[in-house]
Amino acid sequence: MLLNLSVQNQSIESFHSYVSLAENSPDYIIRYDNEGRIIYLNKKMQQFFDLTYESIIGKKPYEIWPDGRYKPIEINIDQTLKDGKPRTIELFIPPVNEYHQISITPLLASDNMTIDSIFLFGRDVTEFKHSIAKTIETNKKLTHLAHNDPLTNLPNRLSLIELLNLRTSSGEYHPFALLYLDLDGFKEINDSFGHPFGDQLLFRVAHLLQELFPSDTFISRTGGDEFVILISCQKDKNIIHSTLTYLIDTLSNPLHIEEIDVYITASIGIAMYPNDAINTEELLQKADSAMYNAKNMGKNTYSFYDTQFTEKTLFRTTLTTHLKKALHNNQLELYFQPQVDVITENIIGTEALIRWPSSEEMISPALFIPIAEESGLILQIGEFVLSQGFQLASQWLKKGISFGRIAINVSARQLTHIDFLSTLDRIIQETGCNPSLIELEITESSILGNPEKMIALLNIIKAKGFNISIDDFGTGYSSLSYLKNLPIDKLKIDISFVRNITNEPKNQTIVKTIIALAKGLQMSVIAEGVETADELEFMRQNGVDSIQGYFYFKPMPQNQFTHLLS
Ligand code: C2E
Ligand code: MG
Ligand code: MG
Repeated sequence: MLLNLSVQNQSIESFHSYVSLAENSPDYIIRYDNEGRIIYLNKKMQQFFDLTYESIIGKKPYEIWPDGRYKPIEINIDQTLKDGKPRTIELFIPPVNEYHQISITPLLASDNMTIDSIFLFGRDVTEFKHSIAKTIETNKKLTHLAHNDPLTNLPNRLSLIELLNLRTSSGEYHPFALLYLDLDGFKEINDSFGHPFGDQLLFRVAHLLQELFPSDTFISRTGGDEFVILISCQKDKNIIHSTLTYLIDTLSNPLHIEEIDVYITASIGIAMYPNDAINTEELLQKADSAMYNAKNMGKNTYSFYDTQFTEKTLFRTTLTTHLKKALHNNQLELYFQPQVDVITENIIGTEALIRWPSSEEMISPALFIPIAEESGLILQIGEFVLSQGFQLASQWLKKGISFGRIAINVSARQLTHIDFLSTLDRIIQETGCNPSLIELEITESSILGNPEKMIALLNIIKAKGFNISIDDFGTGYSSLSYLKNLPIDKLKIDISFVRNITNEPKNQTIVKTIIALAKGLQMSVIAEGVETADELEFMRQNGVDSIQGYFYFKPMPQNQFTHLLS
């Protein structure tokens, strides 16, 4: 019980006019005479007792409840009366509830010396207390939510930043290593097996990390497939080398999820405090650049920060931002490079190649496509290219322009995305394009990840009426045993084998082998990047069906291409 006794003197006049207020007050009100007899109770107080008004009024507590159920308490009224002795009055205090607040106010008689009567005001504050308790509980939950990742229950980015701020502002420079861990190929797994599967994988990785490091290590999940770990250590890097090697090793074991053995590796970047940076933002940024360096070194490894990394990271993030804007503002466009039959020299098709005309000079897709693949932006870019391509194909067909087929590049990430088939269907619907007008160029690496799944997927795509070719053939280590099971119409010989072919016996052998392979599997062959008459001649003599290269045409804007056709 919460007893808040405030005893203060008031003059009797000030209360008489408030009787009706007292009657309807939500508070409990009792008035006692100066001997402690109850002479008034308001409605609220009456409701509390199971007794009639008459059986209470004018009585002292022990007269009302002879069984001693409700015990009075003694109140010392700090008032010197005429006789000079302090006064003690026994008052009955109603045990209203778990929490109540009570104040006691004596009224002075008109002589301003003696006590006329005593008022008791009681208020049930249970609900108020409960709501405060609830608010505290809710706040706790909110703080937890704001600071923890619900999937893994690890601290999140906010927690990490708060901790780093704390560690870097103490002025004590206790050294630590900041490990920025990013899973390799997680997005592909997520895209091809679906998000619930990806979630399970993340959960398992989080668990693994917690097992691997001492229990007081700060391990956070800062986003998608990124984990940041903070290890207190001496300035000596060697100490963490061994930890990192062990970590990379452990991660290389397969995780068994939903009957599937998933191989996941990680790339880790490390920034050292205070050597590499002394504030939160720079530490994170430097660990991030180091992580990208680990990716560039071939993934599944770690890298300490080096000053030259910062520039590269900056470039990549700026480029991504600009590219996003360009896509949003419809600034990307398609160029077309005709494909020519080596015998008839007729145009048998065209490859759609994306162009990003920025203010200075054209930025090469060879530069921005890999970055878009990393960030996932390729999904939107790919969709843009598909819809543009499909739309133009059906337009040209309606106008009677004969263009053969439009070849469209599909990146691995797009192709293996769980929504790829439905995206294709939707764009066919939207554009009314006949799939037989389209050739999808896929890369060997798309097939490599999960060949069985890819065979099934490509068969569905083929059944819709699309042609399928393998781009840059010969560079991606295709497994020949799978090749025969894939519904492929055409192999594109990579430009790297074509260049200077007349002086490169090894390239000649490779190209001849690719041609023989294609013929044997009833596929056609196209050579990319043919620039000279010699190169063309070699291809023609060895049975290549068609040519795409500067010898005939460079990629050109759409209007130029349609002009060429008509
Ligand atoms: P790719 O699909 O192998 O395209 C052929 C590249 O070779 C094109 O480069 C083309 O301009 C270039 N090329 C063609 N003939 C010659 C030649 O005779 N000499 C030389 N030196 N180069 C020639 P581009 O347009 O810069 O595209 C580069 C790569 O970017 C493409 O290689 C493709 O992988 C990617 N890419 C382009 N557009 C798209 C797209 O819409 N989606 C996706 N996912 N990737 C694209
Ligand atoms: Mg291509
Ligand atoms: Mg190519």
